[in-house]
Amino acid sequence: MEREQIVFVGSSDLSGHFRGKSFPLADLPDRLQRGVNLALTNVFLSAFGPIQFTPFGTQGEVLLIPDASTRVLVPFEGTASEYFFLGDLRTLEGEAWEFCPRHILRRALEDLQQQTGLTLLASLEQEMVYSGVAAYPSQPYELDAYRRQGIFGEALLAAMRKGGVIPDSFLSEYGARQYEVTSAPVRGLRAADDAVITRELAQAVAYRLGHRVSFAPLAEAGGVTTGTHIHWSFLDDHNRPVLYDEARHWQLSQLGSQFAAGILHHLNALCALSCASVASYYRLRPGGWAPAQNDIGRYDRGAAIRICSVAASECAHRARQYNLEFRVADATANPYLALAMMVRAGLDGIRSGTDIAQVPSQPLPPSLADALNALERSEVAAQTLGPAVLAAYVQFKRAEIASLEGLDENEICRRYADVY
Ligand code: GLU
Ligand code: MG
Repeated sequence: MEREQIVFVGSSDLSGHFRGKSFPLADLPDRLQRGVNLALTNVFLSAFGPIQFTPFGTQGEVLLIPDASTRVLVPFEGTASEYFFLGDLRTLEGEAWEFCPRHILRRALEDLQQQTGLTLLASLEQEMVYSGVAAYPSQPYELDAYRRQGIFGEALLAAMRKGGVIPDSFLSEYGARQYEVTSAPVRGLRAADDAVITRELAQAVAYRLGHRVSFAPLAEAGGVTTGTHIHWSFLDDHNRPVLYDEARHWQLSQLGSQFAAGILHHLNALCALSCASVASYYRLRPGGWAPAQNDIGRYDRGAAIRICSVAASECAHRARQYNLEFRVADATANPYLALAMMVRAGLDGIRSGTDIAQVPSQPLPPSLADALNALERSEVAAQTLGPAVLAAYVQFKRAEIASLEGLDENEICRRYADVY
């Protein structure tokens, strides 16, 4: 008997999980038009699975419409192929639904374009822990640590390329079993799409090898942290890079400085979207390689924003390479929401003409609860998400915090490591 191919369409929901439904391949042309039906509550499934909070209950439906440009079809010998699309959430009347994360990011990028003429160029650098390698000894950056992951890395890069994501690097990281994959910078929405696709393909490859990857911020309390770093720059409407200015401090253009200042200024609120779990805040402690302050530093991997190094001798090439890295993020975030708020915070920095030197330095929020309080009060967050989504997100995350009450840090880390 020949198997019948099944296609999945999904969306990265409020918890940052990629969830959706599947259908027979034969129905694809039709499904590309009408999508699949979801309950409104589908975007409120908790990080751990069960519904903990939903404003909609059992009421209402939306459509999840596959975006044909995001098709991922990766054959795996002797087993089912990975065949999935990323989708947009639309109302039954065909309008973009306000809770659709891709829509929220699209709106932010359109405003960026309208107000500044700029296009975002971004790539996400994703750390992970791969279970296919023994946890001890830890072999930071050793060739042997790279070797011991066997074919995982090569299969992942091949799967990414097949799935339409251009791989930039794969390496063995500092922690035991820890690896990192980065895709090439791409424009706008596609940067978040690439992050979601890469994460799914990492899981898909690990699964075929009888293993699992975890992108959670910490495998155990006090252990090595796992982050998702967002590299970004901008192109103007003539495709010229705009962050680099040879004459300025750190070669950071005035526009770049204002944008970074906006991010640092709104960072407490942004944290609630980019470091979206209780365990995220165990990562943001001083003494490690993750940030603990709302600071910027050239070549500083402990800073919230790192100005990355460039190597070319020609100015034009240096300007093309020049990018900033936002390090206050991990994989419990919905990447669309985190990027959307980052863009809006930066736009606010440009609008108000703030310079990075003017942003007072302060520690990052000590907990998700603190970050949510800042998010709730933030006008930029209300602009980014819209008031209804903002209120719902805050309640959704407060329910997640409540569900972990009474557990110690180690148990909380483990709970997240099991599901991210
Ligand atoms: N693992 C660190 C983090 O949690 C980052 C290490 C690095 O600089 O790549 O962000
Ligand atoms: Mg790294």
